[in-house]
Amino acid sequence: MTIMDFPTTTSGIQGMAPGQQALDAARFQLAEAVRFLGLDDGLHRMLATPRRSLTVSVPVRREDGRMEVVQGYRVQHNLSRGPAKGGIRFHPDTDLAEVTALAMWMTWKCALVGIPYGGAKGGVAVDPGTLTTRELERMTRRYANEIQPLIGPEKDIPAPDVGTDEQTMAWIMDTYSVNAGYSVPGVVTGKPTTLGGSLGRAGATSRGVQIAALAALGCAEGRTVAVQGFGKVGALAAQYLADAGCRVVAVSDASGAIYSERLDVADVRAWAGANGGVPGYPHADAITHDELLELDVDVLVPAALEGVLTGANAPRVKARLIVEGANGPTTPAADLILADQGTTIIPDILANAGGVIVSYLEWVQNTQAYSWSAHEVEVKLRDLMEGAFREVNTLAADRGLTLREAAHAIGVGRVAEAHRLRGLYP
Ligand code: NAD
Repeated sequence: MTIMDFPTTTSGIQGMAPGQQALDAARFQLAEAVRFLGLDDGLHRMLATPRRSLTVSVPVRREDGRMEVVQGYRVQHNLSRGPAKGGIRFHPDTDLAEVTALAMWMTWKCALVGIPYGGAKGGVAVDPGTLTTRELERMTRRYANEIQPLIGPEKDIPAPDVGTDEQTMAWIMDTYSVNAGYSVPGVVTGKPTTLGGSLGRAGATSRGVQIAALAALGCAEGRTVAVQGFGKVGALAAQYLADAGCRVVAVSDASGAIYSERLDVADVRAWAGANGGVPGYPHADAITHDELLELDVDVLVPAALEGVLTGANAPRVKARLIVEGANGPTTPAADLILADQGTTIIPDILANAGGVIVSYLEWVQNTQAYSWSAHEVEVKLRDLMEGAFREVNTLAADRGLTLREAAHAIGVGRVAEAHRLRGLYP
């Protein structure tokens, strides 16, 4: 099989690992953009494959003295527009294919919103909830040490993703800095503000989701919202949409889903924080994960994992607008069905770009030793998000594309242009 034989079908394959399905979806979307832009086969091959992929074995000493070994990954998909940028995921199902897909989406996302980065992603196949804090710290530091040859403020800058947070970034920054012999705050973003993290980074992805949703909705007042995934992105997206006047009726996390005519999102956040999840929240009814995705709402925000809206459930999805807080939540098969149903989808590479935008602002502050106010950060974020939304919307309207097709055409087109200008060495 050559790399040009990658699948370009719209249907997932039964039994195929989720990571491979995500990579197939990413390659399908790329193939569509390549066709639209009229790029040649050689460039298509280059864009369909990552520049560098590193697989590492990470030994972890458990509290009882046993040693376990987990697999870790760091993939740099494309470096043509600047250093690689992308989060690190700790999740038991993560694999090289998934990390590659996520790195590819990062490339188009950075190009789409006009920040000077390529795309990367990292992951460790582990459930962080099964480790003690000390085990998690040891594992994180060892993983950081293993990927140290690839990362650095001028090379590749990690950030939080599923299962990782500010503390993870603090450990990585410290490990890298100890090895370097001096403090290197710009090696990661999404770190605590005490260590050079940016004001506004913690809520940046969710703020971007809110900005994108409101740009599409026009008026927020009374619009109903369901949010899948009540983690770093989903919980604050629900909060910001409620703050703007939307009526949040349902939220879910890995352990369950809840519904009420009007959820008090701040109260649900406090309750979930104290009780380890949303199930059992006293002022709402329990619903199933599937029911949440199929609610008759104005806005559905998938903010958990890939491949949750599929060819199987898309015909039952009633939301008028889908704002992809997560990366890759909608399969190509679902995309076709939802487009036929008249559902508008604000694609991941646009909808959740707020995180990487403020990561970029954090990195600029670190490398220039600046410190911007929360207001300055928010203004810059809003400007970049709204500008990208307008560009995508205009191209989609002018050329009869979906917002996803338009977003990919712009992102892939900018990366292709960077390759054309730089030429091929040697
Ligand atoms: P997180 O680990 O903080 O939260 C993930 C949430 O999803 C948790 O509440 C978890 O319980 C829930 N979840 C998992 N499986 C679920 C299921 N089957 N049904 C319902 N909920 C489920 O992760 P996060 O950082 O919020 O990331 C969520 C998504 O947003 C991912 O796709 C990530 O790649 C994307 N994203 C994150 C950022 C960021 O800044 N953190 C930026 C851009 C995109």
